[in-house]
Amino acid sequence: MGYSLNPDQTAELLNRLAEDYRIYAPKRFPKQGRYSDTDIIRYDRIQTPDEIVWDQKSDYPAKEVISPIQQALFYFTEDEYRESKKAKKPVLLLARPCDITAQLVQEKIYAENGGFKDLYYDRVHNKVKFAVMDCGGGDDTCFCVSMGSNKPENYSLAFKFDENGLKAEVSDDCFADYFDGMPEDDFTPEFVEENELKVTIPDLSDRDVRLALKSHPMWKEFDKRCISCGSCTVACSTCTCFTTRDICYGDNPEVGERRRVTASCQVAGFDQMAGQREIRSTAGDRMRYKILHKFHDHKARFGDRHMCVGCGRCTHMCPEFISISATVNKMADAVDEIKASLADGGNHVE
Ligand code: SF4
Ligand code: SF4
Repeated sequence: MGYSLNPDQTAELLNRLAEDYRIYAPKRFPKQGRYSDTDIIRYDRIQTPDEIVWDQKSDYPAKEVISPIQQALFYFTEDEYRESKKAKKPVLLLARPCDITAQLVQEKIYAENGGFKDLYYDRVHNKVKFAVMDCGGGDDTCFCVSMGSNKPENYSLAFKFDENGLKAEVSDDCFADYFDGMPEDDFTPEFVEENELKVTIPDLSDRDVRLALKSHPMWKEFDKRCISCGSCTVACSTCTCFTTRDICYGDNPEVGERRRVTASCQVAGFDQMAGQREIRSTAGDRMRYKILHKFHDHKARFGDRHMCVGCGRCTHMCPEFISISATVNKMADAVDEIKASLADGGNHVE
């Protein structure tokens, strides 16, 4: 069922929804950007339609609502611990198609990984309903079509905002009553069919090709360019790595809370083991790990889709202007080169 609402009716709809849901959407935070006098757009709780940024991609992903950058897991004293409380009210998350598809990836990692369910993810994720927002084609870092994340299926509502109000489609009956008395209209959401950017994902099913790619000189470029800051993974729609940290409240180290804090495979020391041994000790090694994880390993493990949804936020947030789409296309060329060399009876490309 479709609807067309003017601004007052849009505000009324959000009021009705807010009685039962915590509503999250992209929101502007003035002067909090990376550069002086710039804003940042990130997901946060909203109360009114004018808080929603519907015409610009957010700098940070929707995953922050479900798996925040940091969260308290439990509180402890010398004698006991108490689990952090879960919010009772469900969440309505207004997000872009890539952000909604990204939750299929996060579900695999947090909820289906070897039969282990992450309690802290699960208790929020189970309470989330998605409203997909029209994204108008994205920007020059998006490649959702190449990654097949442009048409999500796991949503309950579809919203298209403009200056005149809101067009909406209700695909989940549990939201029908909120639209009582609202003007009906024909509306079917349209999804992006083509991005300016196209990414070629190479076939890496051959082990010899993967081994040769591991030592390909293309990764050395990142030893100089990448400063290992981790901004790309913090902004990523699908990255899930975290570490834990104990915060003590006073002088007594036995009273405080344990927090889960986002970690990054791009930061030096991420994989350091006993004896100071690091598996990936250069920025190039770490970049190769990230790219192969996003464009081969995840799919090889879980079988359904690549880990990257093509949101382009890593490119947008990189202070060194490292583009993930250019890197993957470079990798595709390197793989062609390796395959030709192997077919010629040659060894690994040096
Ligand atoms: S790797 Fe980059 S483009 Fe892919 S999902 Fe993460 S942030 Fe988006
Ligand atoms: S790719 Fe860019 S954002 Fe990511 S760690 Fe390197 S410099 Fe930082």
